[in-house]
This record gives sequence, C-alpha cells and structure tokens, in this order.
Amino acid sequence: MAINQKVLEELLNQYPSKVKRNRKKHIIIKDSALARQEIEANTRTIPGIITNRGCAFAGCKGVVLGPLKDVIHIVHGPIGCAFYTWGARRNKAKSEDPTKNFINYCVSTDMQESDIVFGGEKKLARMIDEVMEIFKPNAIFISATCPVGLIGDDLQAVAKAAQEKHGIPILAFNCEGYKGVSQSAGHHIANNGLMEGVIGQGDWEEAPGKYPINILGEYNIGGDSWEVERILKEIGYTVIAVMTGDGSYEELKNAHVAELNLVQCHRSINYIADMLETKYGTPWLKVNFIGVQATIDSLRNMALYFGDPALIQKTEEVIARELARVEPILGQYKKICQGKTAFCFVGGSRGHHYQGLYAELGIETVLAGYEFAHRDDYEGRDVIPEIKLDADTKNIPDLHVTPDERRFRLKISPERMEELKKKIPLRNYKGMNIEMKDGSIIVDDLNHFETEEFIRLLKPDIFSSGIKDKYVVQKMGIPSKQLHSYDYSGPYAGFNGAVNFARDIAMAFTSPTWNFITPPWKNEPLLEGTIAEGGCSEC
Ligand code: SF4
Repeated sequence: MAINQKVLEELLNQYPSKVKRNRKKHIIIKDSALARQEIEANTRTIPGIITNRGCAFAGCKGVVLGPLKDVIHIVHGPIGCAFYTWGARRNKAKSEDPTKNFINYCVSTDMQESDIVFGGEKKLARMIDEVMEIFKPNAIFISATCPVGLIGDDLQAVAKAAQEKHGIPILAFNCEGYKGVSQSAGHHIANNGLMEGVIGQGDWEEAPGKYPINILGEYNIGGDSWEVERILKEIGYTVIAVMTGDGSYEELKNAHVAELNLVQCHRSINYIADMLETKYGTPWLKVNFIGVQATIDSLRNMALYFGDPALIQKTEEVIARELARVEPILGQYKKICQGKTAFCFVGGSRGHHYQGLYAELGIETVLAGYEFAHRDDYEGRDVIPEIKLDADTKNIPDLHVTPDERRFRLKISPERMEELKKKIPLRNYKGMNIEMKDGSIIVDDLNHFETEEFIRLLKPDIFSSGIKDKYVVQKMGIPSKQLHSYDYSGPYAGFNGAVNFARDIAMAFTSPTWNFITPPWKNEPLLEGTIAEGGCSEC
C-alpha cells in the first residue's frame, strides 16, 4: 500500500496532539513535484517514545575515537558506559606491531559513590599512570560520561598535567552523554579534538607516494576499509590515513600531507573535512563505496580530480577486471532479490548509501531515514545556512581553524576547482532525499511505534536497521538485516563487499525458517475424524 498524506495523518492521529505536531515535521512523503520538502532533524527526542538513538559519548568514543588502535581510550565514569561499548562496534584493526594494538581492551575508571562525592580527578590521574606502566600506548584519550560534567571534574587539566608527566599526547574529550540530542554531538566533539590535538602533529612535509589521500568517515566495520584500501592501492593511490577504521594516532598525525580527502560518512566527519580544507588547502570529495556503481563512480571521480591520464587508465582497468569478476555472481543473487522492497533506517549515512546497492539487486527502498543525521544529510549541504541551532546543540563548541602559515597550499587552482565542481561532488553532498523515489517515506528518528505502523502499511520484504529493532521485526515474520554490525558478516564495501551483501540478503530471503512461523494447526487441523449421527449403534 502506498502511503498518502491522509494515511500518514491517520497514523499520526494516534499520538497526543503535542507529539503529533512534533513527529509530523520529521516524516515526509517524497514528492519531486514540490520545490522543496523540508524535514526537521537533529532535535530533541520525545521522552518515552522508544527511540533508537544513543548519546554523545557513544558518538565520540564509540564511533570516531574508539577505532584508533594504538591509543588507550580511558572511559571516565561508572562502569556501564565502558562495558556496553566494549567490542560492540565491529571496527576491526590489525597491526604489524602487536604491542600497539589495544582494540580489544576496555579501560574505565569505574567511578564509585566516593568519586562522585569527592571528585574523580585523582583516580583518573592514577589510572593514566597505570596505563603508562602496563601498555605504553602512542597516545591516551579520555572520554567523559554523564556524571563527569555534573560533578565538575576538570578532565582537560588532568590530561595536560599527565601529558607533561609522561611525554605522550593525552587528550580529553568532554563528550558527556547528555550533550546535544544524539551521537551526532559526540562526532563533533571528537572531530574538534582530533583536529586540535592529533592531525598536523606529525613532521611530514610531503607524502611518501603518488596520489596521497585520506579516507574520512570510514570505520572498517567488518573489514570495509580494508576492501576499499585494496582497490585504491591497486589503482596506485597512497592512503595516508583512514579516519578512523583500523586507524592510528601515528597515521593521523600526518594526515595534513594528503592531496585529497575522501568523505564516506558525511555526518560524522564533515567537520574535519571542512577544517582540513581551511587549514591545509586540501579539498574533500564525497564518495560512496557501498554498491558496485557507487564504487565505480567514486573511483572515476577521484581519477578526474587528479586528472592524470595514467591514473584514469589504471582506474578503468581495475573497474573492468573487478566487474567481470563480480557481475556474474551478483546476477545469480539478483534472481532471488528482484522485485522486493526494503526499509533502510540506519544512523547517519548508511540509510542513503545502501539504497544504491539494494537497487542493484532489484530491491526498492520504500522507507529510509536516520537516527541522528542533520538536515544537510537529508536535503543536501545547500541548506546549511538555513539551519538554526537550538538550545540543545548550541553548547557544542564550533572549532574555527585558520590557514596553517607553513603548510597551507592550494592543492588545485580555483579555476580547476570550479570546473571540477560542475562534474564531481567536490566539497559538496546532495543528501539522501534527492535520490529517493516519489511516494517513498523519509523518517527522521524513527521510533518503535512508527516502525510497527509503517511495517503494517508498507509490508516490506526486508527491514534493515540495528540490533534493538531486529528481533521485534523478525518476530513479525520479516527478515531483518543489521546495517550497523552487518549481522557479524562483511565487508560490505567495494566490489567484494557487494557480493557478500548480496549473498547475505539472498540468504535472508531464502531461509526456510520463514515457512515455519505459523504453526500448522493454525491453518489446518492435525486430527481428522467424524462423529456419527445418533452415536454408536452398539451402545
Ligand atoms: S548516556 Fe551517559 S550513562 Fe549512558 S552511555 Fe552515554 S555517557 Fe554513559
């Protein structure tokens, strides 16, 4: 059933009027005939509505900082925040130096009542001493959790004193969980800290190879960035740093030498992308390595940016070879997937990125949305000047950088920049909505009630979201694909990733379990018999 305004109104009428007024602004039915369709996003969640959102600490430590493998991340707070983020995100990491890969550890100050009453600074300082004694990491990051800001622990002062004492970078991040309205605030706080305290700290003045690039907003879930790096290295690029999947302090500190920054997840890293351009003159390009065509487009756009005929030719050679390898396999899976429909509700970027891959398999996305994206992720960056900051987001500091006196260098001339901007998404992101079909539903901060209602109305063949709603939906008889953890599969990026994804989706559709949801006695009787009229003749 297609949803029109009347049906949507009926759905929303089930809310109390104040809630209805709020939620109405977060849901749109795509209609390209309208000049613009504004969506409300990045605003406070309605209490009690059963959101999928997390907190600023999760966005800062859990998403952006956590994947850095040679850093010890101290979670300053009671034990819950550290425990529940321990190994939960599948940002994989490997290291040639096994003594510098701390990705499997969970380090917390485990605050007790006495620390809340008398303050936790001394305990944190002792913890840093212990970490130095045991691990000797390349850097230490401290992430604040909810109570830390309330009791007034001065993390920055503790970090500064410890840095002087131990002689390694020690950075504190004030990402208390209540800041902002979602994980998004944490991304911003992490971006500011990395820009101030890590990027540019290295002494490289030149890249060690040709076509040097950074990959931003790629967290190596299930090995995604390894697959992307495989393709890029084969073409001839020099990957300086990945932010932050399988990344390290050691790589990040020299990220200033890149000639181009690729932006995969716009939401979580666009602040760094912009600041790198202002400070070092390095432009950024929006890429998408999810889906075969999106990967090809991204590779071609990169080659065009560098403009070297040899690079363009090598790009085409790699594309042709990879296509010849994966297309026949994808064709097989497409036969199973063709004609089906999907929901695609993920954090702040995959809600968009996976739609192309679904389409390649013949699956139409009928509903998509984000937990914590901003209006520019939906409507494109052109709306940024119109976005009004409300009281919940005003307390996230904006870091303003200036051109680096020694290192700023325009990587391409302004004329070439203007010429390229007409052809490729340089310094630009057009958002998710523009690519969605008319009649499809776009929902911001989808909640439990709306999930059930939209499933009832749209009857998708597959639901893709996260762990919290996966089993609710599977109990409704609909396969659910986690697009945060990939259901412990992956990689899903690049050419090999597309094949893995297609295999997993086809497996979800063809699993025989869906035939056993309704017990047989609901459809047909298990015992058959007749009652003779008049009873038994022998009685
Ligand atoms: S909301 Fe606060 S207590 Fe909960 S995980 Fe985030 S920082 Fe920890």
